[in-house]
Amino acid sequence: MLRYLTVPVTAFAQNCSLVWCDETKDAAVIDPGGELDRLLAEVQRLGLNLKAIWQTHAHIDHAGGTAELARRLSLPIIGPHPGDQFWITGLPQQGAMFGFPPAEAFTPTRWLADRDTVQIGRCALDVRHCPGHTPGHVVFHSAEAKRAFVGDVLFAGSIGRTDFPQGNHQQLLDSIKERLWPMGDDTVFIPGHGPESTFGEERRSNPYVRD
Ligand SMILES: [Zn+2]
Ligand SMILES: [Zn+2]
Repeated sequence: MLRYLTVPVTAFAQNCSLVWCDETKDAAVIDPGGELDRLLAEVQRLGLNLKAIWQTHAHIDHAGGTAELARRLSLPIIGPHPGDQFWITGLPQQGAMFGFPPAEAFTPTRWLADRDTVQIGRCALDVRHCPGHTPGHVVFHSAEAKRAFVGDVLFAGSIGRTDFPQGNHQQLLDSIKERLWPMGDDTVFIPGHGPESTFGEERRSNPYVRD
């Protein structure tokens, strides 16, 4: 079964998640935006074998530590979707713009596409391509654990910004309704910022996407 721990990192309190298989203790880190030493201390405390970086999208608060972490531990970088190449290329400029520590661009070991699968230990997660906030944004879904790691697609009570280059409001709404809602009302989602919620709760009460 999949387990996870969310660690808010960077000045943007980005919800970086450690996810692991409780049988093998093999782990992936989703969106290591920064504060790598703190993340690695949690990995050690939990006794995990960190095997991969999974990337939802390439905004600085999600990807600012990716290149350094991959190099330090020789980890593969899985994702995001190729639509985010320009955000990856622009990571150094993003860092300077938002006052982040210097960030490096990287080359994903494996790009992701809609309906791909990622594996950690004995746990498989489905990948859905959810463009709108960024063109290459992906989410990771464990049907078994009824959890979805959705980055900046959807928040409790809100949705991702679409005023960036290649952001698209209608596309974001379509991504949420066509690719997140079918995961089921009782699925708990871990957003890129703020508290967890369920898709059912957002369908009832989120002013941007309620039924
Ligand atoms: Zn973002
Ligand atoms: Zn974010």
